[in-house]
Amino acid sequence: MPEKILCTECDFLLYFGEIIKKRLYMRNLPSEEKVLEMYNNTCPRCKNKLTLKTVKIAIER
Ligand SMILES: [Zn+2]
Repeated sequence: MPEKILCTECDFLLYFGEIIKKRLYMRNLPSEEKVLEMYNNTCPRCKNKLTLKTVKIAIER
């Protein structure tokens, strides 16, 4: 069940991989906020400001 984080403005794929919370539990992975920080909280494609409210977090089943 991979997790995806997408920009709500342009659907740019910001993150795709193991579910972050699960990794957090294992204490070796970043939170969603850390992922957004890696992009300086700005979408590289549309320059939308990235916050937990302006991204779409999808967990595939
Ligand atoms: Zn975007």
